[in-house]
Amino acid sequence: MNAEIIAVGSEMLTPFRQDTNSLYITEKLNELGVAVDFKTIAGDRLQQLTDAVRHALGRVDIVVLSGGLGPTEDDLTREAVAAALGVRLKRDPDLIAHLYARAASRRMAITRNNEKQADVIEGAIMLPNKLGSAPGQWLDTVLGKHRKLAMLLPGPPHELKPMFQEECLPRLKEIVPKRHIATRVLKAAMIGESAADARIAPIYTQYKDVETTILAHMGDIELRLSCTKGILDLAQARVDELAGKVEDELEDLVYSSQGETLEQIVLYHLEMRGATLAVAESCTGGMVAERLTSVSGSSRSFVGGAVVYSNRLKTDLAGVDPQLIAKHGAVSQEVAIALAEGIRERCGSTLGLGITGIAGPGGGTEEKPVGLVFCAVSDADGTEFVEKRFPGDRDGIRFYASQQGLDLVRRRLM
Ligand code: ATP
Ligand code: MG
Repeated sequence: MNAEIIAVGSEMLTPFRQDTNSLYITEKLNELGVAVDFKTIAGDRLQQLTDAVRHALGRVDIVVLSGGLGPTEDDLTREAVAAALGVRLKRDPDLIAHLYARAASRRMAITRNNEKQADVIEGAIMLPNKLGSAPGQWLDTVLGKHRKLAMLLPGPPHELKPMFQEECLPRLKEIVPKRHIATRVLKAAMIGESAADARIAPIYTQYKDVETTILAHMGDIELRLSCTKGILDLAQARVDELAGKVEDELEDLVYSSQGETLEQIVLYHLEMRGATLAVAESCTGGMVAERLTSVSGSSRSFVGGAVVYSNRLKTDLAGVDPQLIAKHGAVSQEVAIALAEGIRERCGSTLGLGITGIAGPGGGTEEKPVGLVFCAVSDADGTEFVEKRFPGDRDGIRFYASQQGLDLVRRRLM
């Protein structure tokens, strides 16, 4: 079965408010094995909203509406759904009594327009709202030859969530055929989206039953695989098989196969080997240290290091020979190597990482342009370095540099 979510409210068509209810609803529907094929945001206008509901009922099995159930003139969801189905609204006297009793118990006076919240769509079941005044509605109907489910839920997230959880989910579970979703998240570092896709598209396109999405971030791509089947083991076997083939193709570019972050993986490899790491960071200004220390338990393998922004501190804290800096410049492979070796020695760690580069926007030259970054990693077996020219603005280049530094350590450990 598939679904459409309609978020009702003109405020979500302004630059100031976002629809977030649909994220929650999508997560819950996916867990049931229901795919959300469309999302619509509709303003508080009867004709447009009616069209949106009619359209949704024509193309999916389940329509979830959020918002527009309040007492005000612009709360039109009930009217729109009734119009789209060609049925009537009936004012329920018990519900009116309930609304007045609820208001009285809170010592609030309510106005006549509140009675509109007691309008029930013909054939609908009312869903109690423990946390607000507007009840929801559940419709299970047949259009043409097709069974259609529609649910009208209040807009405020703290009202919508418990209502969906307590009233809609149990009903949906009775109706939706049992499906299981298996997922895997693979992550690869320092490869572009199109380069990665060119290599793996021939593989994943053969798996028609596995949905593959690629999310690209800076210096990182995330490959999400998901498969829905009646039996969980079958779905899991399909995503695992595809994940294995993708890993074979991308080889050591893939650093994570269960969604872990690069810093988590680096710390994992360090700990596995009983190794420790120290860093000497210039252009990243401590970003690598910050990323590593954001992971709990990092103190077992990350000893610390230094932010060596000035040439003097490169020498004082990481032991870089001033003549090396004078000869090759602070942004050079020689200085990156010296930083890695020097910080390793001074901190007494198994590995040392050095990073130096030009983050821009100023400071670039013909010979050493903005984005030029050198990273080096050193251990008892020697030192290796990479030279990269990263695109983007200052923030981007600094993040790329931290990503490159972490990835270099990861590869060294592997
Ligand atoms: P009320 O009785 O409070 O008027 P309602 O069902 O009419 O409830 P709306 O008036 O549409 O709901 O929305 C009330 C508030 O709920 C909005 O101001 C907004 O803060 C929040 N809200 C509405 N829709 C969404 C949405 N799709 N995602 C996140 N928040 C929402
Ligand atoms: Mg409202």
